[in-house]
Amino acid sequence: MTDPETLADRVREGELRLHELEDHADYETAATARRLLIERETDASLETIGEYAFPAEQAEPNIENMIGAAQVPMGVVGPVPVDGGATSGEHYLPLATTEGALLASVNRGLSVIRSAGGAAARVTKNGMTRAPVFRVEGVAEAARTVEWVENNVDALREAAESTTSHGELLEVSPYVVGDSVYLRFAYDTKDAMGMNMATIATGEACEVVERETPASLVALSGNLCSDKKPAAINAIEGRGRSVTADVVIPGEVVEERLHTTADAIAEANTRKNLTGSAKAGSLGFNAHAANVVAAAFLATGQDEAQVVEAANAITTMDAREREDGTTDLYASVSLASLEVGTVGGGTSLPTQAEALEVLGLRGGGDPPGSNADALAEIIAVGALAGELSLLAALASRHLASAHEDLGR
Ligand code: NAP
Repeated sequence: MTDPETLADRVREGELRLHELEDHADYETAATARRLLIERETDASLETIGEYAFPAEQAEPNIENMIGAAQVPMGVVGPVPVDGGATSGEHYLPLATTEGALLASVNRGLSVIRSAGGAAARVTKNGMTRAPVFRVEGVAEAARTVEWVENNVDALREAAESTTSHGELLEVSPYVVGDSVYLRFAYDTKDAMGMNMATIATGEACEVVERETPASLVALSGNLCSDKKPAAINAIEGRGRSVTADVVIPGEVVEERLHTTADAIAEANTRKNLTGSAKAGSLGFNAHAANVVAAAFLATGQDEAQVVEAANAITTMDAREREDGTTDLYASVSLASLEVGTVGGGTSLPTQAEALEVLGLRGGGDPPGSNADALAEIIAVGALAGELSLLAALASRHLASAHEDLGR
């Protein structure tokens, strides 16, 4: 077996390429050799990056040119009662981040939600999308292609579903721009986030489209999907799970625990999250949903680049007057395109799988899809807690002092 020093030398001398080391050594040795090489070439010490707690081979589907692991601190918030469509009961939510004060803030929001009896959450739409782009001669061929697709969704479904035992084709939405035809395929991918599943299934369906229509496939992804880019189509039509969480917080709880009033929080939300975001031309109308989404994604093995669209949320806060004259706070967060899974991708890596275990959501659900729905609902409640806490801090003017105390 070749030792790491020799392997690193062979790469430096141009005999081997960096990505070929696993062909000549086991996975740990290959990672060690790369660290040696990078340490020598950059004078950086990779001692800590090399201290990881899982077999390098296990990460093989998730990373190329592995040198070690990025270790992000992980904490936990909760518990919080969630009354969801796919989950009910108390949950601790693991979050991985480097932002001091974030977990304290979310935990404060969750504690207030707990005092209010818990939050409700529901997945209201589910569909992972892939939208290939086809070339046609002109608008006449585009119209023929669209007509064929609309009349033959069953044929496309049969082709697409032949590639997966879990995925189900839900719909195909055509869009025409000049001599380009885009077909936005949406799938129920059950407990998988589903981007590979949807891509493979759509590839199979595209062959049928090319056989039966004048259209020629240009690219399996034509960006109307829309993956990992800020896009209004995801905010409007949804992608992955569209999920909403809401809660009514009694006025006395708002005053005792958040040191402000329902009216003050509602005004801050309107002027900041709605009017301010509109004036900024923002796609998202929220305070910091990305904080909870990103930290939950890192902890549970989601595709972190999808935070771009997964954090797209609208937060509403309204003062609701009770018959006795006191005022409660209604708060909601609606995430339009939260792409999450409990199988596939990074979810089976050891720390990520343990984090899913904390939620009781490791692996496939019964029925399939229920675990990913539950994860979406819990993340939505976490995001709601973050919104509540931050809006309350702004309304009571405590934000800067909280960051000074906790974050630095
Ligand atoms: P995947 O790991 O490629 O596939 C998930 C697998 O889980 C499927 O093979 C499915 O089998 C199986 N499975 C077992 N139990 C299941 C259950 N209860 N529900 C659903 N599936 C179940 O994961 P993916 O979610 O499709 O794709 C996620 C990966 O795609 C991530 O690594 C992400 O980074 C990457 N990604 C890919 C693209 C792309 O364009 N290809 C874009 C962005 C991200 P069957 O299909 O046989 O049923």
